[in-house]
Amino acid sequence: MSDEHANFAEFHRRSIEDRDAFWAEQARLIEWQTPPQQICDWSNPPFARWFVGGTTNLCHNAVDRHLAERAQQPALIAVSSETGSERVYTYAELHQEVQRMAAVLQSFGVQKGDRVLIYMPMIAEAAFAMLACVRIGALHSVVFGGFASSSLATRIEDAEPRVIVSADAGSRGGKVVPYKPLLDEALALSSHKPEAVVLVDRGLAPAALQSGRDHDWAALREQHLDAQVPCVWVEATHPSYTLYTSGTTGRPKGVQRDTGGYAVALAASMRHIFMAEPGQTYFCTSDIGWVVGHSYIIYAPLLAGMATVMYEGLPIRPDAGIWWSLVEKYRVTHMFSAPTAVRVLKKQDPEYLRKHDISSLKALWLAGEPLDEPTANWISDALRIPIIDNYWQTETGWPILTLCNGVQPQPSRFGSPGKAVYGYNVKLIDEATGEELTEPNQKGVVAIEGPLPPGCLQTVWRDDARFVETYWKSIPNRLIYSTFDWGIRDADGYYFILGRTDDVINVAGHRLGTREIEECIAGHPRIAEVAVVGVADTLKGQSAMAFAVPRDAAGLQDEAARQALEAEIMKRVDAQLGAVARPSRVLFVNLLPKTRSGKLLRRALQAVAERRDPGDLTTMEDPAALREIQAQLG
Ligand code: ATP
Ligand code: MG
Repeated sequence: MSDEHANFAEFHRRSIEDRDAFWAEQARLIEWQTPPQQICDWSNPPFARWFVGGTTNLCHNAVDRHLAERAQQPALIAVSSETGSERVYTYAELHQEVQRMAAVLQSFGVQKGDRVLIYMPMIAEAAFAMLACVRIGALHSVVFGGFASSSLATRIEDAEPRVIVSADAGSRGGKVVPYKPLLDEALALSSHKPEAVVLVDRGLAPAALQSGRDHDWAALREQHLDAQVPCVWVEATHPSYTLYTSGTTGRPKGVQRDTGGYAVALAASMRHIFMAEPGQTYFCTSDIGWVVGHSYIIYAPLLAGMATVMYEGLPIRPDAGIWWSLVEKYRVTHMFSAPTAVRVLKKQDPEYLRKHDISSLKALWLAGEPLDEPTANWISDALRIPIIDNYWQTETGWPILTLCNGVQPQPSRFGSPGKAVYGYNVKLIDEATGEELTEPNQKGVVAIEGPLPPGCLQTVWRDDARFVETYWKSIPNRLIYSTFDWGIRDADGYYFILGRTDDVINVAGHRLGTREIEECIAGHPRIAEVAVVGVADTLKGQSAMAFAVPRDAAGLQDEAARQALEAEIMKRVDAQLGAVARPSRVLFVNLLPKTRSGKLLRRALQAVAERRDPGDLTTMEDPAALREIQAQLG
C-alpha cells in the first residue's frame, strides 16, 4: 500500500483491532456526567451496548456545554426562501428557546422515556422541539412534514406519543401545504390519542384548534419565557430517538438510536471526516425528516460548536443561486447535500453557482444515493471545491464509506464514495455461500461485521426480532449486518456501490448492478438523469429497461429523434459494458418517481414495467412521474 493511504489504514485497523481503546479516546470528545465503565458490551450479539455505565445528555453537549465560550456566537441560522424570513439564534438564545419548549412539554406530563412526535416544516421551532426532547430524556420521532395522513397515522400508532408538535403549514415552491388538516385526519384514523398537540402558527393557513387537545405555541411560550429546565442525565444506552427509513424498498423500518454512542460518533465524525472547528458554519440542505437532517443539520454541527443553517425552500427559487448566496452571506465553511439536488441544479445555468463569493467553502459532501461520475464532474467544475461522496443509511446514522480527510487527506475517485470509515468492519460477501470476498474487484453484498460502531441503530423500535431477522440473518451461515447494497472494492480499498441487492439484474446468468448501466447512460451528454430496472424476460430471465430524462426534451419531440438517441445509448452500453447489459428499451420521460428524500423508486418503476401493482407509494414525491410512465408503456 502506498504512503498516501498508510496513516488512514493504521487508524482504521486500530478502530477494529483495538476497538475499546480507540472508542475510549473518541468518548473524550463529549462531556459526561458519569464516565462510562465499559466501552462496548458485545455479550449478546447482535445487540451492542456502547459506553455502558456512562451518563450524559445530547442537549447538554449540543447547547449548554458551549455557553461558557460562545454564548453570543450564532448557533442556528433559520432561513426560509418560502416566507422570506431569516433569523439567527445565538447559543444563549437557542438555550433559552429550548428550555421554553422543554417546559411546555413537561407541562403536558412528558417525562424521560416518553415519545414526542414532531411533524414540522423546516423552521427553528422544529429544532427547539428535538433538542427539548433529548434535554428531558424524551424520545423524538420526527415525521417528514407534509406526509399524507395515513402515513402519519401509522407512525403515531407506532410511537404512541404523549405530545405532538406541529405547525399550521409548510411551504414548497411558493405553494402553502397545510399540515393541520393532515394531522387532524391522522389523529382521527389513529387508535392512539396524544395528551396534547402544540401548534406553531406561522400564519400561512387556517388551523382550527380543538379545545382541550390543541394549544398555540406562542401562547404557551409566553407562559414559560423564563423557564429553567435542567438537562436530565441519562444512561449512554438510553434511546434518544426513533426514525423511519426512507421506504425505498418497502415498509419503512423504525430505527432506534441511543444517546452516548450517537453523541460520540457524531462528534468524532466532525473531527475525522469533516475537519470542523467551533465557530465555523455548516449548511446541510437535507430535511429534519431524514437521518441526514437529524445528524448533520441538528446534532453534529451543534456538538462541534458550529453555526448550522436550517433552510426551508427549493435550491432553485428564487433562482439557482440561492444556496450560494447563503454561503456568501453566512461564510459557510461546510456544505452537505444530495446528488438529487445537484441534478436539479444541473438543469440550470452553471453561472448561477459562480455569481457568489463562495471562497469560505471548504468542500461539498454528498450522500443519499449514487453520485455518478458525470454529475460529480459537473458540480466540481461549477464550484471548483472538493466534492466528497459519502455512503450510509438511516440505520447507521453517520457515514460507513467516505474519505476521512481529517485523519489523512485522500484523493477522491468519482464514482466511489471512498473507503470503509474507522469503526466499520466492512466486508464484501458472496450472498449464496456467505463467504467473504477478499480479492479486488469481486462483486458482493456490502456487510458489516458486528459490533456496529457507536451511533448505529440499537434495534428496530419495539421489534428486536425484526432487527435480528432483517439485518443480521439474510446472509447464510453467519451473523453479519447486511446493508442490502451490492458493491466492489478496488486494490486501494475504494468501494463502488453497484445498486441495491434487490435491484441486481440477472441477464442470461450474468449478474449486473443497475448502477453500472445507469452510470454508463448518464455519461451521455444529452442525458440529465436515468433509472435502470430489471424486467422479466421469457428468454433471458431478465433484461434491463432504462428510463432517461433528457437534458433537452424539446429536441426529442418526434419519434425519429427518440429512436436515434435510443440507438445511440444502446450502442454506448454495448461498447462499455457488453451486449448483456444493453437495455431492451430506453424510454424518455420528464420525471422519475422518487421518494420524498430524493431516492429513485426503482421497485415502482419495475412493477409498472412488468405491469404489476407498484405497492406502497406513501413515501413517493410526485405521483405524476409514475402516471406518465404508465401512459407511455400503454
Ligand atoms: P428503505 O430501507 O426503507 O428501503 P432507504 O434504504 O432508501 O429506504 P435510507 O436509509 O434513507 O433509506 O437510504 C440508505 C440507502 O441509500 C443505502 O442503503 C444506499 O442504497 C443508498 N445510498 C446512500 N448514500 C449513498 C451513496 N453515497 N452512494 C450510493 N448509494 C447510497
Ligand atoms: Mg434501506
